[in-house]
Amino acid sequence: MNINFVGKRILVTGAGQGIGKEMALRLSSYGGQVIALSRTKENLEKLRAEDPKIQTVCVDLCDWDATKKAVEQVLPIDLLVNNAAVACLNPFFDATPEDFDLTFTVNVKSMLNVSQVVAKNMIERKIAGSIVNLSSQASQAALKDHTVYCASKGAVDMLSKTMALELGPYNIRVNTVNPTVIMTEMGKLGWSKPEKAQTMLSKIPLGRFGEVSEVIDAVVYLLSDRSSMINGVNLPVDGGFLAS
Ligand code: NDP
Repeated sequence: MNINFVGKRILVTGAGQGIGKEMALRLSSYGGQVIALSRTKENLEKLRAEDPKIQTVCVDLCDWDATKKAVEQVLPIDLLVNNAAVACLNPFFDATPEDFDLTFTVNVKSMLNVSQVVAKNMIERKIAGSIVNLSSQASQAALKDHTVYCASKGAVDMLSKTMALELGPYNIRVNTVNPTVIMTEMGKLGWSKPEKAQTMLSKIPLGRFGEVSEVIDAVVYLLSDRSSMINGVNLPVDGGFLAS
């Protein structure tokens, strides 16, 4: 696949570490002007040290007004990756209201906020846009100790479909990528213990966890014109977990 994002301005949220950071670097390597938004300044500084072409925005996505203002300041955006998320892992009875509010604020509400600002501007500029939201296999399969996280990713899938429905007429496509376990900091949180990892691995037909680069490949495809008729889908990158 010959990918070229020259002339495109691409916003990636949660780009301070993990999948988002590698995504920012990859998208920049395809010639796009990447704007990396995240919470921790030091992580963004490290990213810029690796690729000085990348522009950074330090903001806490939990702050609706500050986020809206920060995103308005980096407009116009042609391609958007809503990647930031948190995972508060607890058994059902230990899930707290604080966990719930934080998870839904970062994983779902901020996606609505950022997408509203970006999509409104895309419509004003009459451009064909693409938005990719990072969901998870956890949106469609219940995972032990993941009550609030699973619920938030279920919400991400449905938010994305409603966006696809309402933004499609303006030639803005919205899709999700739904990975299995990827061994980032977040992945380690849930799956470092060998017994937990083994249980999950036994349910993945390909018999392994995913690589960060494999998630990025799927996002790149959905951002690109190669997926020009694909709108409103949830694309698993899960080695067949959801099929089994
Ligand atoms: P990480 O925890 O490694 O990175 C998350 C990023 O989001 C960090 O850069 C973090 O910033 C940023 N972030 C978190 N909260 C906020 C906030 N309030 N404001 C701004 N930025 C914030 O996660 P992954 O890279 O593993 O996950 C990326 C996406 O992929 C997520 O949507 C996740 O749910 C999804 N996913 C991950 C899987 C996995 O196994 N890893 C599996 C399936 C889906 P900071 O620099 O401060 O840490």
